[in-house]
Amino acid sequence: MRTTSRLSERARELDSADPLGGMRTKFLGHDDAAVPAYLDGNSLGRPLAATLETLGDFVRSQWGGRLIRGWDEGWLALPRHIGDQLGEHVLGAAPGQCVVADSTTVLLYKLARAAVTAVSDGGKRNEIVLDRDNFPTDRYVMEGIAAECGLTLRWVDAEYDGGVRPEAVAAAVGPQTALVVLSHVAYRSGFVADVPAITELVHSAGGRVLWDLCHSAGSVPAELDAWKVDYAAGCSYKYLNGGPGAPAWAYVAARHQANFEQPIRGWLGAGDPFGMGRDYVPAAGIQRVVSGTPPILGMLAMQDMITLISEAGMDAVREKSMQLTSFAVEAFDEVLAPLGAVLASPRDPLQRGSHITIDHPGSRDVTARLWEQGVIPDYRNPNGIRLGLSPLSTSFAETWAGIEAVAAGLGATVRP
Ligand SMILES: *Cc1c(COP(=O)(O)O)cnc(C)c1O
Repeated sequence: MRTTSRLSERARELDSADPLGGMRTKFLGHDDAAVPAYLDGNSLGRPLAATLETLGDFVRSQWGGRLIRGWDEGWLALPRHIGDQLGEHVLGAAPGQCVVADSTTVLLYKLARAAVTAVSDGGKRNEIVLDRDNFPTDRYVMEGIAAECGLTLRWVDAEYDGGVRPEAVAAAVGPQTALVVLSHVAYRSGFVADVPAITELVHSAGGRVLWDLCHSAGSVPAELDAWKVDYAAGCSYKYLNGGPGAPAWAYVAARHQANFEQPIRGWLGAGDPFGMGRDYVPAAGIQRVVSGTPPILGMLAMQDMITLISEAGMDAVREKSMQLTSFAVEAFDEVLAPLGAVLASPRDPLQRGSHITIDHPGSRDVTARLWEQGVIPDYRNPNGIRLGLSPLSTSFAETWAGIEAVAAGLGATVRP
């Protein structure tokens, strides 16, 4: 009882001292009494209230008013325009290197396929290095590419409450390495990989890197240019609040664009799409990463979120995120560890993204019951509860409400 009132008091203090606290009211549903704690913004971010208007306006005046003329008046350029905004405010990428398209899965395929072709060196570089704990789609896509191109996968193991460290990558790369595929923030543990160090050591072995930023873009700052990243991709429906099924984004460093060989050649990646030419001649620059018609409606919500992030600043977003996860770990130690739960995320806030995972045998049942009460964390196989703390839409009080409910749920399972 004492602990819980202390933690709820502490949550109140942290909220009132939070310089970004006011931003939470910009999200739809923030005051929904039926959802006392939404801790899954790392799977599907909440919508911004502004997005209701953005979408309505677009349908009314753009689609409804400009009709087919809209393509020439800005829609065709929008994927690159939003890509540049993302590059500037979120990814640390100079203009002309990011584009919005497809899904993460499809972009991972396109980027990895182009990368292994570019570095093959007559077949001498024939390995893709990846880790056992990466998100399933990343592993499946690379397995498919390996089968398609006759490449070998070299697996790296990740630590249970951590991730892939530079030493593990150093031991795996060599003259046979074509590409290394890793996540910036691990989807399960939340571990933040040392992107610049790993990228540098892969380069010194002559390979290239493809970083997946699904779990970091919008919550952990990235410096893709300064880190000399070759390729990156990420989704927009997590910390970029693009909405269910919103398209993903790709980054291809300017130095790799001229020999980027597109595996899905479509007319909108061609240099002169409306020339309707006989042969495929790729567009210059990042446009050649595109295959077909861009999903314009799906990328508008993300643009609203990029605007909000630019107002907050990524450094302030990161600061809030670290405070949220630190508070969650403090609450974990006090109310969840005594129930037998184990922290499966790093204890150092600098080493974790914006979520933590706690393991407990009762996780699956407890999560299902919490969802019915509008307390929404995420269940992850085999026995993890993931608490995603989206920096701009989650308060400390909400974090505490969620953890208190998890404790009540787990407490009920351990009682005889
Ligand atoms: C969410 C996520 C994906 C999702 O891929 P989709 O094609 O959008 O379904 C991929 N990789 C990682 C690391 C993720 O966290």
